[in-house]
Amino acid sequence: MIKTSGFPVTKVAESKLNSLSLENIPFGKYFSDHMFMATYKNGAWQDPQILPYQPLHIEPSLAALHYGQAIFEGIKAYKHSSGEAFIFRPYDNFKRFNLSAERMCMPEVPEYIFMDGMHQLLAIDKDWIPAKAEHSLYIRPVMFATDVALGVRPSETYAFIIMLSPTGPYYAKPMKIYVEETYTRAVKGGVGFAKNAGNYGGSMMAAKKANELGYDQVLWTDAIEHKWLQEVGMMNVVFIIDNKAITPSLEEGTILNGVTRNSVLVLLQEMGIAVEERKINIDEVIAAYKNGTLQEVFGTGTAATIALIKELRYKDEQMLFDTEKWKVAPAVREKLNQIRYGLVPDVHEWLYKI
Ligand SMILES: *Cc1c(COP(=O)(O)O)cnc(C)c1O
Repeated sequence: MIKTSGFPVTKVAESKLNSLSLENIPFGKYFSDHMFMATYKNGAWQDPQILPYQPLHIEPSLAALHYGQAIFEGIKAYKHSSGEAFIFRPYDNFKRFNLSAERMCMPEVPEYIFMDGMHQLLAIDKDWIPAKAEHSLYIRPVMFATDVALGVRPSETYAFIIMLSPTGPYYAKPMKIYVEETYTRAVKGGVGFAKNAGNYGGSMMAAKKANELGYDQVLWTDAIEHKWLQEVGMMNVVFIIDNKAITPSLEEGTILNGVTRNSVLVLLQEMGIAVEERKINIDEVIAAYKNGTLQEVFGTGTAATIALIKELRYKDEQMLFDTEKWKVAPAVREKLNQIRYGLVPDVHEWLYKI
């Protein structure tokens, strides 16, 4: 049973909304008036509460800063034209958060903290959900180790926080992607399936080098042959080849199990497009490009939703696409948006009402 009230609340004296316009704001720059916070100590979650969004006081020896026990999630809430607000598939993020926690030797966050905390926070800051097309409220839960002592071992104390950030369209332009053949993001047995902070720090060098060459992001490949495709930045990747949708499988644990990926695969099947979750390597993609069967390539993720890819570069092979002519990715994006913004019935029960 989800509670819309129940945790203690300390409200701001005056909302920051009055000094901000919620139109076309950049991703992740502004935060709503309040945040949810709970702490873990003596083997139990304590003091769940809602309080003004504010700086934290930490010691330099904070365990998360040194040994990387930090995980997060990314979820979106949408306002419908009726004025009602909905969160998209938050239970899937809740489950994934706890998979990340387990992998990082961090305590599970119980449902009443994660879900009820998010619900009550959103109910209080509901006016922060922009009511404009392509706009949403990005929800960022985070957990990190808070022991203040050096030494590599799982922390005994943690903080769990949910913050809210209103956001406009993200990655609106089709992207140029560099297929990575030097650096590695994830290996079997590693932490690639977890949304832990270190994965992102470790990926920045490759993205920076790709940026220097004029590319927006890298498409990660396996660690050994640098041929088997994984995912793009903070997005999963889908190829439309010969009218089939092909996406790397989750089996090896080297990619994030994206909620958007799953939603897109469901919608593609409903559109009559066969879906294959399997290993796919760059040689197959290049061959399909050369024989004209590679129709579309796109990324899927909560922040970006669906991002079209207009160029793929692997070594000296440059694959260029005329994204204006594409049918599948724009159609699936439209279907997803119609569900999120309440323009069609939510037959999959993906929307969670606030
Ligand atoms: C968050 C993330 C995704 C996308 O997952 P969604 O649940 O669709 O937002 C994909 N890859 C990585 C590495 C991510 O961190």
